[in-house]
Amino acid sequence: MPTRIAAALTLAICLVCARLAPGQAGPGTLVAVWAHADDEVPIGPVLARYAREGAQVYMIIATDGAQGAANTSIPRGPELAKVRSEEANCSAQALGIHPPILLGFPDGVLGSYISGQGLLFELTQRLQAELQRLRPDALITWGPDGGMGHPDHRIVSNIVTQLARAGAPGVPERLLYSSIPVEGFAAMYPQRGAPPFMVPQDKYFNTRVSFSAADLEAARRSMSCHKTQYSDEVVRRVSDAMRNVWNGQVQLSSLSPAPGGSDIFR
Ligand SMILES: [Zn+2]
Repeated sequence: MPTRIAAALTLAICLVCARLAPGQAGPGTLVAVWAHADDEVPIGPVLARYAREGAQVYMIIATDGAQGAANTSIPRGPELAKVRSEEANCSAQALGIHPPILLGFPDGVLGSYISGQGLLFELTQRLQAELQRLRPDALITWGPDGGMGHPDHRIVSNIVTQLARAGAPGVPERLLYSSIPVEGFAAMYPQRGAPPFMVPQDKYFNTRVSFSAADLEAARRSMSCHKTQYSDEVVRRVSDAMRNVWNGQVQLSSLSPAPGGSDIFR
């Protein structure tokens, strides 16, 4: 085929690629579902790697983050929610993934049945609708421990697991759980370390995802976007600790009893 025709054909195919609907383009679609902006920290390099390799990578963030004021003088409320949405955008950009999908549910009360009995059902419906739209091939969320026990994390994990087990439209069986290594807790909370019984036993980690130095650097930059949550000192300490414990591979556990491997999609 003459070079010019081949080039024109390639361009035409690429233009078609760019217009493909979510879930149809690239080597696969990966969606991470979180309670808060900054929940991606324990698997930052995984998101960066798949985005770099051409997968469609999205984050859905259930709450508005209006109550998370760990490292800021901004009062809790709408102003803080706005800043946290900007931080989520900054993080997604650093990881090279799509802009975050922010659902805006109230922060800190997803597990409160008394204050909003319809909340859980509404969140379930919203998550299912988003997943049906994105049609992921693989999902990542917190494990049943919520990583650190946070009720919002537990609820999001629970709903995503519910949808996967029920075979809800658009929700794949391939569901992986993120967790925080003991060393990550120690770096983040030097005074108190990891809460008891929070980290799964080694035998449950059946998927090990390798990453490049560039992915690791993207993850560090992504964490440093969350200025209302982490000081520069904490970013440095946690990034160093996680780099050591990862040792080139992020470990995940999967819902499916099938043996895992080294790839999110297989
Ligand atoms: Zn969180």
